[in-house]
Amino acid sequence: VENNDVPIVIIGSGYGGAVSALRLCEAGKKVVLLEMGLNWEKAGIPFSNLLKPGKSSAWLKNKSIAPFMNIFSLTPFTGTLDRLDFDHIKIWVGRGVGGGSLVNGGMAVTPKESYFREVFPDLDAEKFYNYYFPLVQEELKVNVIDEQFLKDCPYYKFTRVGEAEAHKAGFKTIRVPNVYDFKYMEKEFRNEVPRSALNTEVIYGNNHGKNSLDKTYLRKALETGNLEILDLHRVQTIQLNDDKSYTLNVRQTDTSGVMIADKVFHCKKLILSAGTMGTLQLLLQSHAENGFPINEKIGKNWGNNGNFMTGRNWVKPLSGGTGAKQSTIPVGGIDNWDDPEHPFFTEIAPLPMGMDVATSLYLLINRVDKKGEVAYHKASQSLTLNWDESNTAKMRENAQYFIRKMNKANGGTRSHLLFNNGFGADICYHPLGGCVLGEATNEYGKLKDHENLYVLDGSLIPGTIGVNPFVTITAIAEYCIENLIKQKEFA
Ligand code: FAD
Repeated sequence: VENNDVPIVIIGSGYGGAVSALRLCEAGKKVVLLEMGLNWEKAGIPFSNLLKPGKSSAWLKNKSIAPFMNIFSLTPFTGTLDRLDFDHIKIWVGRGVGGGSLVNGGMAVTPKESYFREVFPDLDAEKFYNYYFPLVQEELKVNVIDEQFLKDCPYYKFTRVGEAEAHKAGFKTIRVPNVYDFKYMEKEFRNEVPRSALNTEVIYGNNHGKNSLDKTYLRKALETGNLEILDLHRVQTIQLNDDKSYTLNVRQTDTSGVMIADKVFHCKKLILSAGTMGTLQLLLQSHAENGFPINEKIGKNWGNNGNFMTGRNWVKPLSGGTGAKQSTIPVGGIDNWDDPEHPFFTEIAPLPMGMDVATSLYLLINRVDKKGEVAYHKASQSLTLNWDESNTAKMRENAQYFIRKMNKANGGTRSHLLFNNGFGADICYHPLGGCVLGEATNEYGKLKDHENLYVLDGSLIPGTIGVNPFVTITAIAEYCIENLIKQKEFA
């Protein structure tokens, strides 16, 4: 077994890991980042599109794992998209250098200030809205679609129809910023550059256009010369040593998931940025297997960010439906958050299936009235989730209200084509919480009962933030790492 001694290890290269890596490297610290997924840029393997799922489409599976229409068989490969199946919920996560930024839709939404204040009463909201949110919008290269392009482009008919129908039903719509470079998209449309968003590329990775973390934070961190990224390195368990340092048991694999080497890493400082489910798995599993100390708040205050998918069929079938050609990048949202009875936000989502299916797809984000809890089951070596229909009852009610109101004003039916009963209560893209800031950690993400362990990822957010979460995850990570460095935690 190969032994490695390094001062600082970060586990996971998603938003929390990428922010931590950049700020520590800028402060002159040497950092090793361990990522279980593949470094796609280095491997030079192209991402697959939605219509032809290939190598990048699934994490070591025999069949594709999109939310619907999985008719494709695959040769297992360390793809970008993984799905964790629990009894009442399926959770999709990104794998690879860049984490969720490789697979997500790039929607870069700043939360409503009133809700941010409600979720994080102890944070200085003014500082977040004046400093951290603008900072991450710049670092992540957030931009907005040109309104004229949106109006003219046939690939955005689904958005124009979606917005017109929402207005007719009395709902308010908003423009949604994104990290996809819209100037690039305009060139795609004019056939001046290779197509990505206009070629059904999204949840299996984008070959062009999208400013994922490998193009932003991680690239900048590598440019300092202080960062080493080891891909296809999965941390299996963590141990606490007598001198308060950590030992990590790590398995390196090839792209078919077969073991290449087992390695041991010793580090003084450890940052967990393995994503909500990855970080919880590491903490709870290590606790069960080697008595790793954790506090009683770990696993608690978990939520699906109110994710609830739904859709409508027969949307204007006679006047051309939602369009055969669709961009994969969403730019429209319906904002019903201020309705006291049915508060929700929903993305007007694309459904690029290569033909006009006259179907509108919506990913609702609701409040989470009843939180869940994550635990570890030793015999099966897997996480369990205390979460069932009672947790999503109010979300279903909101979806029902929304679909009824839309159909009444515009025609159409609840989408039985996409989901059983027309509702995808079990679809989750935004797992959050379980290691909540100020509860399981101190005010800056340092784990309670530990001197050298930090958590910086989605698990810090208590299960809900009211909009798509990566802007918030990035801003919280910036806030925490800045203060941890100031407090000389890494000196
Ligand atoms: P992640 O980005 O999940 O990164 C964690 C990383 O750690 C991963 O790369 C993982 O492989 C690695 N890892 C895990 N365990 C280990 C281990 N044991 N050893 C080594 N490495 C490990 N959010 C938005 O704001 N806007 C959107 O438009 C949007 N669309 C989405 C679409 C899809 C299909 C999905 C799945 C998510 C979407 N999200 C979106 C959610 C967003 O991507 C996540 O909230 C975000 O990526 C979470 O960031 P994170 O830093 O917590 O961890």
